[in-house]
Amino acid sequence: MVPTRSEFLHQSLPQKLAFYFLILGCCIYAGWRFFERAKVWRQGKPIDWKPSYLQNVVRYIAAQRKVRNARPRSGAPMHLFIFYGFLALLLATTLLGINTYSPIKFHQGTYYVVYEIVFDAMGLVFLVGITWAMVRRGAFRPKVLTQEWKDVWALALLFALGLTGYLVEAARISNHPQTWDASASWVGAALARGIPNISDGGYVAIWWIHALLVMAFIAALPHMRLKHIVMAVAASAGSPERKYGVLQPISLEEVEQTGQIGVAVAKEYSRWHLMSLDACMECGRCTEVCPANLVGKILNPKRVVQDIAGVAGTETPVAGAVSEEALWQCTTCNACVEACPVLIRHVDLIVDARRNLVAEGKLAGTGAVMLRQITSTSHAWGAQPGSREEWMKGMEVPLARDKKKFDVLFWVGCAGATDPGAMKTTRAVAELLLKAGIDFACLGNEEACTGDPARRIGDEFLFQEMAQQNVGRFGSYEFKTIVTPCPHCFNTLANEYGQFGGQYEVKHHSELLSELIAAGKLKSAKPSKGEVAYHDPCYLARINNQSDAPRALLGERTQLNEMGTEMERAYADTPDRRNLAEPEHYGRKTLCCGAGGGRMWMEEEPNQRPSENRARELVATGAKTVALGCPFCRIMLDASIKQVSEEEIKLIDLAEMVRDANA
Ligand code: SF4
Ligand code: SF4
Repeated sequence: MVPTRSEFLHQSLPQKLAFYFLILGCCIYAGWRFFERAKVWRQGKPIDWKPSYLQNVVRYIAAQRKVRNARPRSGAPMHLFIFYGFLALLLATTLLGINTYSPIKFHQGTYYVVYEIVFDAMGLVFLVGITWAMVRRGAFRPKVLTQEWKDVWALALLFALGLTGYLVEAARISNHPQTWDASASWVGAALARGIPNISDGGYVAIWWIHALLVMAFIAALPHMRLKHIVMAVAASAGSPERKYGVLQPISLEEVEQTGQIGVAVAKEYSRWHLMSLDACMECGRCTEVCPANLVGKILNPKRVVQDIAGVAGTETPVAGAVSEEALWQCTTCNACVEACPVLIRHVDLIVDARRNLVAEGKLAGTGAVMLRQITSTSHAWGAQPGSREEWMKGMEVPLARDKKKFDVLFWVGCAGATDPGAMKTTRAVAELLLKAGIDFACLGNEEACTGDPARRIGDEFLFQEMAQQNVGRFGSYEFKTIVTPCPHCFNTLANEYGQFGGQYEVKHHSELLSELIAAGKLKSAKPSKGEVAYHDPCYLARINNQSDAPRALLGERTQLNEMGTEMERAYADTPDRRNLAEPEHYGRKTLCCGAGGGRMWMEEEPNQRPSENRARELVATGAKTVALGCPFCRIMLDASIKQVSEEEIKLIDLAEMVRDANA
């Protein structure tokens, strides 16, 4: 006989009809619940981007890219077992359905044997994953995971589904044994030994238990965490391709039409943002990496998503559901966005809510002072324009107003122009540009804040004013490239000024200097083994995927940029890394110093400083020098390293190290 099996074994016509009736009812119920929820998403603004459709589904769902690259302790391997096990079982059921309901009959012979062998194995993979999840929740629950009965039920349902699937197979083999069972349906055949000679009625009873569980699963899909199975696919397919570091602009027309700025209630988010909230699987990976949450602040990105989802479709203010305090605590470091396996954009959600708070006059204290300073002096710390050329004293720095045409515009930034520590970096970069014979110029007193802190704290129109002012200024000169030592300026100039007609080639100083080193015009620094630790700035390493050039300045050859999120593994295998003392978090997975998102200008409780947390990691490397590539990080870490270490640790920018190496 040809190996195969018959479906609906021993089932009467009424039983078959009852099955179809019930399963159709469950599908209609699930569809109706999703349809009802879709009404809430449709309240949102239409999206103004082209969805990725298939690309992100393949990359992030089918290939599980973010899950694969998460730290193992985040439950990533467990999820891979569950996901691929579930996917295999879904495929097995689909193939069976095609064979049963289409005229093509292929469920027999060698194909059938291979089908049974493979899918019996994948069923075990699925059950191992579910068991792993249960044990993890029960005995080793990370604190970012909440313990709720609905989660226990969801896992129990999935486990019962997998187990009864095997029991149906075992009962069929016990009731109607075939010669090929032991080699093909190997798990079912082993179980069948425990239930010998099962009756026709016994088989039908087990079959129905499994069928009822399948129906319960379908009906439960729109509820509990299970809905992420469907919603993660939808959210990925519709997600914006927009880089992490780019925020959506608001137009004056939009404000005139709606009569408000930013998001007060959830329906003012885009439809995709509302839909993405329902994709959250409550895994807590976002919270695990949040620098604010790590130091005990109330900001919890997972809760932000859950709280907004909870009030979607209602008139409850977002700031009330999430809490204003939590909204202000975000550094916009995007660690949460990077970690989220279903591509939720927490920073968009937070900044949109901040925009409304700022417009309503709810930003007080030092954050509000910073906005007033930018308005009155075009400098985030309130320095007068005349002071922007003080760092040049004693140097022959070319000015744009004198040259008009040059190759490189050296953009200094507010901190670089007036902060004593950051000014050392600025001078070092200028010295290196002069030494390498680069045709460059600075704007000097004509430079104005890029508007980055204003945009991220929520004052979109102040940002737009600054952007338009600077784009206008750039138009007065002829240059090819902008280079800046500030990753925040870099991100804004490179990625956001395009929204206002300013398309430029922009380089962080580490990129230009690494090119000059590669061209033999400069020498890299050569610290000895373990002497230096490098702190990756979020806006350079994570948000703009630049981790190799800074390391090249320290004589390291890495391939972190190319590897993207897979860099950790790649870097661990690179022998060169041994020279640099890496902290626990580095590259794209770096840990924020706490300065972004306007937090640089906001008060911090002494025991809740992200910068001290990061300082501890850097000190733990044992390096006596910490190399930096960001003036904000320098300001934050300068005080914090002194706070957490009794030993003297030197803070120095990469450019200063290269300058010293070329002295
Ligand atoms: S952007 Fe950074 S600080 Fe803000 S919620 Fe995400 S991880 Fe936390
Ligand atoms: S928002 Fe993303 S990372 Fe955070 S809990 Fe939900 S699915 Fe997980």
